[in-house]
Amino acid sequence: MTATRPTTDADRPALLGGTPVRSAGWPAWPPVNDAAVRAVTEAAEAGIWSAADGPMKTEFERAFASYHGARHGLGVCNGTIALEIALKSLGIGSGDEVIVPGYTFLATATSVLGVNALPVFADVDPEYACLDPDAVEAAITPRTKAIIPVHLAGHPADLDRLADLAVKHGLALIEDAAHAHGASWRGRRVGSFGIFGCWSFQASKNMTAGEGGMVVTSDDELAERAWSFHHCGRSRAGAWYDHGILGGNYRLTEFQSAILLAQLADLDEQLERRERSARVLDEGLARITGLTPLGRDPRCTTHGYHLYQFRYDPNAFGGLPRERFTAALNAEGIPASPGYGVPLDRQGVFAQRRFDQRATGFDPSYPATDYGRLHLPVTERFCAELVWIPQQVLLGSDADMADIVTAAEKVSAAADTLVEAT
Ligand SMILES: *Cc1c(COP(=O)(O)O)cnc(C)c1O
Repeated sequence: MTATRPTTDADRPALLGGTPVRSAGWPAWPPVNDAAVRAVTEAAEAGIWSAADGPMKTEFERAFASYHGARHGLGVCNGTIALEIALKSLGIGSGDEVIVPGYTFLATATSVLGVNALPVFADVDPEYACLDPDAVEAAITPRTKAIIPVHLAGHPADLDRLADLAVKHGLALIEDAAHAHGASWRGRRVGSFGIFGCWSFQASKNMTAGEGGMVVTSDDELAERAWSFHHCGRSRAGAWYDHGILGGNYRLTEFQSAILLAQLADLDEQLERRERSARVLDEGLARITGLTPLGRDPRCTTHGYHLYQFRYDPNAFGGLPRERFTAALNAEGIPASPGYGVPLDRQGVFAQRRFDQRATGFDPSYPATDYGRLHLPVTERFCAELVWIPQQVLLGSDADMADIVTAAEKVSAAADTLVEAT
C-alpha cells in the first residue's frame, strides 16, 4: 500500500523539508552587463539627459520602429501612457467604447478609462488566451471605436481576423504588445498590423529600462499628434512656449533610451533562446499527467515568450490546489506563479465601478458598464488553471529547463503526500 509513497529525502517534496531539485539561481533580470553600463555612462557624459528628440531617444525610436516594421516610433514613460497616447491621437474619448480582453494586465483596460472612454471586456480564445475575434464581433456596438488585442505571454492574437473586423466595422486596431517584443505573425513582426502598436519597458518586460514605453505607427499624421501629446502639447512647427493642445510630459529619457538601444541588439538571440527553452518544456511537461502546455497557432512565427504558460489540472494531482502546486515548485527552486488570479473585470475598479463614470459619458444603466455581472467563461477558466514561468527563466540552458521538468515530475509523484500534509 505504501510502496508509492516517497520515502527518501530526494523524493520528499522540498515544501515538506526534502532537498530541493535545484539550488542554483536563474538568469538575472533586468540584465546588467557591460553594454548597459557603457550606455548609461555615455548618456550621462553626453550631457543631454532628456529631450523630446534627444539623440539616444531618436536613435532608439528609429531602430525599434523599423525592427517592428513601422515608420515612426515614440519613446514614452510607460506602456500605460503608450496606450493612452494611441487612443488620444485617434480622438477616442468620452462616449466611445473600446474592446479589450478579460485576461490581461490592468493597464490594457485602465488606459481606456484614462482617456474617459469605456472599456468593454470580451472573452479570450480557449487555445492561446488571446482576444477571441468572435467575442469581439459580438461586443461591437455603434459606439465602438477601437479594439485592443493583447499578444498575451508573447503569442500574437489572431491579427488576420482582428484586422478584418477592424476594417469591416471601421474600428481602430491598437496592438498591446507589452508581452511581445520581437514576436511575429506570418513572418511579420507585431505592432504594425494595427494603426498603433504599444509596448512597455517596465522592469519585468522582455526589454526594460526599469520603466518606459513605446508607440509605433506608420501614419505620418498620427505620429505627429502622438509626438505632441508626449511633449506637453507642443508641435514640431511651433515654438517652445507654444502649447496648442492638452498634452503632458511623457518623454522617455536619454538614459532609458541608451539602455534599450543596447538591449535591442540582444533581442534576436534572446528570442531564439526562449523559443528553444520552451520546446524543451513543451516536451517534458506534456508527459506529466495533468500538465498541458498552451498551444501555438501555426501563424505565430516568433513567440515572444514573456511568459511560459501551462494548464494545471488538480484532479491529476489528487486535488492539490494550484497555489499549493506552484508553492511546491517554488520550494524546489523553480519560479512559477498562478498568473492573473481573477478576470480583470472582477477587480474593484470595474466590478464596483470605482472610476468617474460621468466622465465616460455612459449612464450607469448602460449594460456594458455592469462589469460586476459579466461572465467570460474562457477567461475564468484560464484564471483558475494557468501556471506561469517568467521569461528570464527561459534564458537558461537546456539543463536548466530539465530541472523544471524534474521538479514538476517530483511534485507529481509526491502529490498525495502534499495533499495529506495540507
Ligand atoms: C505591463 C503591461 C502594460 C503596461 O505597461 P506599464 O509600462 O507597466 O505601464 C500594458 N499591457 C500589458 C499586457 C502589460 O503587461
